[in-house]
Amino acid sequence: MLARHGAVGDERFWVWAGTANQNEAFVSTVVTPRVEAGYMHGEVPAGVSARLFEALDTRDLVPLAQVHSHPKGPGMSRTDRELSLVAVPGFWSIIIPEFGFTWPTNVSRRGVYEYKAKRDWHILTGHEKSERIDIDDSVIQVD
Ligand SMILES: [Zn+2]
Repeated sequence: MLARHGAVGDERFWVWAGTANQNEAFVSTVVTPRVEAGYMHGEVPAGVSARLFEALDTRDLVPLAQVHSHPKGPGMSRTDRELSLVAVPGFWSIIIPEFGFTWPTNVSRRGVYEYKAKRDWHILTGHEKSERIDIDDSVIQVD
């Protein structure tokens, strides 16, 4: 999906949702909200955000991370820093570089940021990424 849009120069945006307790979060669902193209970045219109939160609420899910692609590197832009879909400590923003053409093989190139406070994001180090992100198999073949 990312690379298909990247081929025509579009950034993509989606939300990982699921369940969370004090120590762990489990991503079960991907939400793809409609995004309106802005000058430098796409933005999720307020009405779409409201319907997104409502859709999650009716399913007892919480937003865990926003994920979007960049044409080049995984660094946060000023807009990324200032506009977060969710402004709650612990919410993550994940940036996929090169429109996802290197996804998912080049895991270390993803930018992973944890919301601390307004415009204050903690950048996860490579070690933190490997310690804190655990990707389960989505298909398990049993013979
Ligand atoms: Zn961005």
